[in-house]
Amino acid sequence: MKDINIVKPLIPSYDEYINMIKPMFSSGSFTNNGPLLRELESKLCGYLDIKNITLVSSGHMALSSVIRAMELKGEVITTPYTFVSTTHAIVENGLTPIFCDIKDDFTIDEDKIEELITDKTCAIIPVHVYGYPCNVKKIEKIAKKHNLKVIYDAAHCFGVELDGKSILEYGDASIISFHATKVYNTIEGGAVVTKDKTLKEKLDVFRNFGLDSDGEALMVATNVKMDEFRAAMGLCNLNYVDEAINNRRKAVKLYISRLKGIKGITIYDYKESVKYNYAYFPILVDNRDKLFDVLKDNHIYCKKYYYPIVTDMTCYKYLDHFKVEKSIDFANRVLVLPLHGELSLEDVNTICDVIINNL
Ligand SMILES: *Cc1c(COP(=O)(O)O)cnc(C)c1O
Repeated sequence: MKDINIVKPLIPSYDEYINMIKPMFSSGSFTNNGPLLRELESKLCGYLDIKNITLVSSGHMALSSVIRAMELKGEVITTPYTFVSTTHAIVENGLTPIFCDIKDDFTIDEDKIEELITDKTCAIIPVHVYGYPCNVKKIEKIAKKHNLKVIYDAAHCFGVELDGKSILEYGDASIISFHATKVYNTIEGGAVVTKDKTLKEKLDVFRNFGLDSDGEALMVATNVKMDEFRAAMGLCNLNYVDEAINNRRKAVKLYISRLKGIKGITIYDYKESVKYNYAYFPILVDNRDKLFDVLKDNHIYCKKYYYPIVTDMTCYKYLDHFKVEKSIDFANRVLVLPLHGELSLEDVNTICDVIINNL
């Protein structure tokens, strides 16, 4: 029996990548705002239809950097139903995470945000988890009313649009991840997207020790640059990402047609107003752990993603208890099924057969 893995990175043609990096062996232009980095930033603005982008070394450092560049202090409202990176970025910058529960679409419950706001609250960091958009309009209203910043963890959102506009254009800033396991990758990498020109310029300096063009440090900063080898991977992968998303869409349509309406399985309610990238396919099932094991016995590798939730993790046990029942319930029942740009429909059918026969 062959293995069906949960993810497979988007990989460009070998020759294409080698041809792109070849000139670097004579030029020695490996990093520091190189030509490939600049080309990738410009192409991504076009592809994603966004105004500004600052490429950095990872999605995590994109979030950490934008938090620092905004000079946030105090409490940040976020959700525990996410990859631990979101919470780490908040805490490592001296901020206190205040956890808000999620709703049925896995994203922050905007109706529960206001009751968590105190005079220490400085920002809201919601997560478009699985590439499913948060209620950005309601969140914007709350943020305006209470004078809070909004940074979206849009790590999963390459190419996602809401009402015909890139999801990355909402809020004061969004961060995205280009890690190898994401829809589109630069091996490791990430970016901050913001409409705020001043913030963008600050981030451009921040990523390189805070140095301006005269070699003068304008701020205490760090090194989160993306090198040319990774930018080359990003440029090559841009030629393949459309096809990969298209294949993902076909796989998800088949998953939905096989699993929707089956007693014991809950799936996300896809909306007309959203252009999805089909980054993940989570289902909620009561016998999650047993089903996970059965699938594994059949060489089908899923992920309990996101379990355990952040509030249950060892390093965050010290935090106050929060009312996040739905996050806990979903974490106990969620199973993310295999999904990538090369997953065959035959494999999707095999996975669905095993699930349906073992509920
Ligand atoms: C992947 C991910 C990150 C971190 O991105 P990296 O590029 O791996 O640093 C942050 N938040 C979420 C929700 C993620 O899935």
